[in-house]
Amino acid sequence: MPAPSDFAQPLEDFPVLLYLAPHLDDAVLSCGGLIHRQAQAGHDVLVLTVFAGDPPPGPRSGFAALLAQLWEAPEEPMAVRRVEDQAALASLGARWQHWAYPDCIFRSDPESGEFCYPIRDAIFGQVHPAERAALVDELAARLAESCREWQPEAVYSLLTAGHHVDHQLLQWASRRLEGAGWDLRYYEDYPYVEDPACLEAALREAGGEWRPELEALSEADLAAKLDAVACYGSQLGVLFGGEAEMRARVSAYARSLVPGSSGAAERYWRPLEHRPSTDDREAVNGLEERIERMRPPRRQAIPSLRSGDRLTAPPSYYLTTVLSASEACR
Ligand SMILES: [Zn+2]
Repeated sequence: MPAPSDFAQPLEDFPVLLYLAPHLDDAVLSCGGLIHRQAQAGHDVLVLTVFAGDPPPGPRSGFAALLAQLWEAPEEPMAVRRVEDQAALASLGARWQHWAYPDCIFRSDPESGEFCYPIRDAIFGQVHPAERAALVDELAARLAESCREWQPEAVYSLLTAGHHVDHQLLQWASRRLEGAGWDLRYYEDYPYVEDPACLEAALREAGGEWRPELEALSEADLAAKLDAVACYGSQLGVLFGGEAEMRARVSAYARSLVPGSSGAAERYWRPLEHRPSTDDREAVNGLEERIERMRPPRRQAIPSLRSGDRLTAPPSYYLTTVLSASEACR
């Protein structure tokens, strides 16, 4: 992949709390409440979006062209989305940095020239063989270099609920930071995590034991999150059907995490031990082959969170029930 030309907002105040996002909306959709809370408390919050680059010149797949149409930005889809992200993060009090890697829908195999992910099922399937090694190595090296430069107090990566290939690539690269001593927490990829099966599959595929940590949101945090998500105008129709539906669903999910109260929260996960999954990629790949392919999340979701009881069970519940259930799925 050619050396990317990135877009960055200058940083002035160290240290930072660093959020890693594959796409221009993932961090705010998943973590917008906590980002607001931290920024309000005076932290310097930086959201780094990796696959934020413009499409390479040349033809696009039919699927990529369709998505750009749905985003109502057929000519310069990523330029529109970068502006949305800047507005959303500014509203939360956070800084942004955009790396210039193209979204998976625009990427091709350098050997064959064929699109890596030409259909919807492909972007929720397995990472293309051409990207398994070199791209992960490159991302991991750049993340490590960035952490040395920024010295983040904490790094927030993602669980890969939903199994999107760009989410997988970024998680694989970021897990190497654990071995370098950085403090990593993993957020739940929203809206995919509305389907509890997506969360369970992500934890299963990540391997090891995980501890959930709830971050309580004030009403102001939740309201700020909703307003920030509303900045991603190109995505609201595709993801939710519209802004009103987005506000209802994001609120309902945040409140479902604290059943029996009027509060709201976001949930994060911490690995209980370092598993060098990205240093042992063959083992990871072998595991993937054994796991039934995830289906893209359905548009329903909120009612299924009746199983919120289960989602907010104590850690020991997950360590036994979820992991043993995963064995039965193989
Ligand atoms: Zn994403």
